[in-house]
Amino acid sequence: MTPLNPGATLGVLGGGQLGRMWSHAAQALGFRTAVLDPDKHSPAGLVSHVHVCADYLDAAGLAHMAAQCQAITTEFENVPAEALRQLGLTLPCAPSAEPVSVAQDRAREKTHFVNCGVPVAPHAVLHSLDEVQQVHAPLLPGILKTTRLGYDGKGQVRVATVAELATAWQQLQTSATPTVCILEKRLPLAAECSVVLARGFDGQMVHLPLQVNVHREGILAVTEVFEQALPAATEQQAFKAAYEVAQGLNYVGVLCVEFFVLQDGADRDALGPLVVNEIAPRPHNSGHHSIDSCEVSQFELQVRCMAGLPLTTPRLHSPCVMLNLLGDLWFAQGAQASEPPWPQVLALPGVHLHLYGKTEARRGRKMGHLTITAATPDAAKGVALQAAALLGIAAW
Ligand code: ATP
Ligand code: MG
Repeated sequence: MTPLNPGATLGVLGGGQLGRMWSHAAQALGFRTAVLDPDKHSPAGLVSHVHVCADYLDAAGLAHMAAQCQAITTEFENVPAEALRQLGLTLPCAPSAEPVSVAQDRAREKTHFVNCGVPVAPHAVLHSLDEVQQVHAPLLPGILKTTRLGYDGKGQVRVATVAELATAWQQLQTSATPTVCILEKRLPLAAECSVVLARGFDGQMVHLPLQVNVHREGILAVTEVFEQALPAATEQQAFKAAYEVAQGLNYVGVLCVEFFVLQDGADRDALGPLVVNEIAPRPHNSGHHSIDSCEVSQFELQVRCMAGLPLTTPRLHSPCVMLNLLGDLWFAQGAQASEPPWPQVLALPGVHLHLYGKTEARRGRKMGHLTITAATPDAAKGVALQAAALLGIAAW
């Protein structure tokens, strides 16, 4: 692909916080940005040159994007792959429709991992109540997940028995046609980690340093990034698996691969083997730290991929901790929403506050994040714990 020049317009499907941070990165490189999102007040729409306020499959909206843009990306996992397919007829798309459609379906995703020879949790795809009742006992206790449209732990139920599984199945059925689900064995986790990589149209790949993640109630809460956060062998295994997954999809753009690090035997803290959990065909929450901690951010990498520009390795210049700022923090004083104590937080050294411009705080809603950079991992963690205490985030 001939590289696009500054002044060209880059388009994104979805106007959430990922699109907003992507838009900032694209504009820093001199590009114009266009956003397709049906929400008038979408975080990315508010900061872009063009906001096409239409449904993702609206013919006029897609035609408008195609006419305005020289390349397309997506920031929202559940943008219909069909929208990318249509835009892909006339424009370079990074990623293209096919890998996005794989990532949108947990069953297809798992099949792809197995085909790549990458280890996954024991699982079964379930299409009917009959299949639910015949599930193999070793898959329990497990987690029943819808194959489509889940995120932040939504569309998932933890189950211990076949009776609970049947109830959970009914609970996840929302329409007349069966909602296909996947039952995954619940694995004993010692840690969770993720790899964000970028792959260009020429197949060149680079990656961010390994991210160690803490989830709470199925939502990412904390990411820590520093050298040797996990053993070198675990890191190498994660990077190798992530590259294989991307290559196997002939993926172009930024891709996140999430992993579970299993416990080794009975010791809860001893690290055992890795299994891949899922992929996100876009920049990822666990990579937000890169804006402040790396030479190139995940958002700039996405811009470079889609514009056919060179990819360089994003060296980590500062150890860091990222804290997600959920809407719950706005309710620390009671039922009435009130602004968290930003001046006190910003008085701490190495704090980078990112708020996404969402007007209404709701529990569980991602309102922003905080990245703390420092000279050493211990210093970053120390300041992060102080910030967490000020904001009412539990220590980890
Ligand atoms: P995301 O917001 O990352 O898309 P999601 O809703 O797709 O989240 P998963 O990543 O499948 O959900 O699961 C969320 C979290 O639940 C995981 O990060 C992990 O902490 C826990 N979890 C999921 N599957 C398993 C499993 N098989 N065994 C143990 N824990 C699990
Ligand atoms: Mg996940």
